[in-house]
Amino acid sequence: MSLSQNPLIQEVLEKYKPIWALDHASGLLEWDLETYMPVDASKPRGFAFAQLALMKQQHIVETAGLLSKAEKLTGLSDQERGILRVAKRDADYYTKIPPKLLEELERTPKEATVAWRDARKKSDFSMFKPWLEKIVDLKKQEAEKLGYVGHPYNALLDRYEEGATVADVDKVFSLLVPELKRILKRVISEGKFPPKHPLEQMQYQEEAMRRVNQELLTILGMPEKTFRMDISTHPFTTGIAIEDVRITTRYEGTDFKATMFSTIHESGHALYELQMDPAFEYTPLSRVTSLGWHESQSRFWENFVGRSREFTKLIYPTLKKNLPFLSGYSEEDVYRYFNMVRPSLIRVDADELTYNFHIVLRYELEKKLIGGELSVSEIPSVWNEKMEEYVGVRPRNDAEGALQDVHWGDGYFGYFATYSLGNTIAGMIFDRIRKDLDLEHVVARAELGTIKQWLKEHVHKLGATYSPKELQRKQLGEAYNPQPLVKYLEQKYLT
Ligand SMILES: [Zn+2]
Repeated sequence: MSLSQNPLIQEVLEKYKPIWALDHASGLLEWDLETYMPVDASKPRGFAFAQLALMKQQHIVETAGLLSKAEKLTGLSDQERGILRVAKRDADYYTKIPPKLLEELERTPKEATVAWRDARKKSDFSMFKPWLEKIVDLKKQEAEKLGYVGHPYNALLDRYEEGATVADVDKVFSLLVPELKRILKRVISEGKFPPKHPLEQMQYQEEAMRRVNQELLTILGMPEKTFRMDISTHPFTTGIAIEDVRITTRYEGTDFKATMFSTIHESGHALYELQMDPAFEYTPLSRVTSLGWHESQSRFWENFVGRSREFTKLIYPTLKKNLPFLSGYSEEDVYRYFNMVRPSLIRVDADELTYNFHIVLRYELEKKLIGGELSVSEIPSVWNEKMEEYVGVRPRNDAEGALQDVHWGDGYFGYFATYSLGNTIAGMIFDRIRKDLDLEHVVARAELGTIKQWLKEHVHKLGATYSPKELQRKQLGEAYNPQPLVKYLEQKYLT
């Protein structure tokens, strides 16, 4: 069934078929780059990405005329308005960014990440510095071409989180940071959630954790024939189509919770993509509405469900069966191990209480880089100072500090903030879903399909029909309120 009977919108949808196919191809190339691509192939891959982006630009620019005619349409359905909203965003972007800049924005990061990898291996920021300078310069140009109100960072943030501004993000952090500091201080002094646990050191067989992860995928109700799970250093999810989603996990041989929670996290992302309305396929609506919403899904499953007492109880027998070293550990021990609290240097290893400090640090630095208040050469020292201020630990070298994440090398400026917006939205979902479901009981009875169904109805099936703020107001009552997240953390860690 067509999403619209309006001839103008049908024409827009027709124009989107090749655009969808180009995204499909880039998505698959991206997945391959992160999983199986030979190391030396980054140059031709960068070239291919740039050429595909230019083709996409040509197709999208062609829709501009249609879209300006469509502006006069009235009496449209929510879906029709959504189609035009997303298509207009695409058209704006690709008409404002000149092809030469677009080509550089696509190509440079693919080569910069190779330099970043080498620099991190040698823990030498100076090797990455010229690349980062080039990327910051390109991102500033991008912001200028796109235009903005207020801070230039708004132009970049809007690419990942439509309509969100530094004012929104600053407001979230101004509440979150002092509250998290307060909770963290008490948790550390009480010692109930330990900074270290003997289970971290236990060695496991990869086969054993593969079986556990398989069981997790079953419990979460991941639809077997529409996804696959591979291995990568940094786990991620790529949506290729509504019936083709790729996730990855990692097996490091110790600290078995890492592979478990990355599997749950990426499954949370995957379900969002997999549970969209199938009628949206090949159209502008077959996308997640924002990265903040995307992250809310992964965090909701990982933390609010996965790290709960009820879920620990549910998975404990499977863990015990596969990990012989668990015979001396109770369910309560495993719960404490899942919820260790340790201020640490590395974002991806951070616990629920310290994670957002890592984000505010990067957000403040990149806002200043884009605003021209900070130079790239100052990054390592400012990073270390901020890390000490927020997390209370100081990196010993650049690999532990400013070189730890690939995002900036990848050109993802404006992206980090969405991690904390995602945690914020996850907190709001936790509050809202409990008005409809007895969440603890549902998890205890292994009826996770009920949660999956709730998220499908309220979030997933809608795809990009509504903007991130509209979707929050519609389904959660308001936008970006960190209070429920604080309340949840307080109840979990302080009572
Ligand atoms: Zn994620």
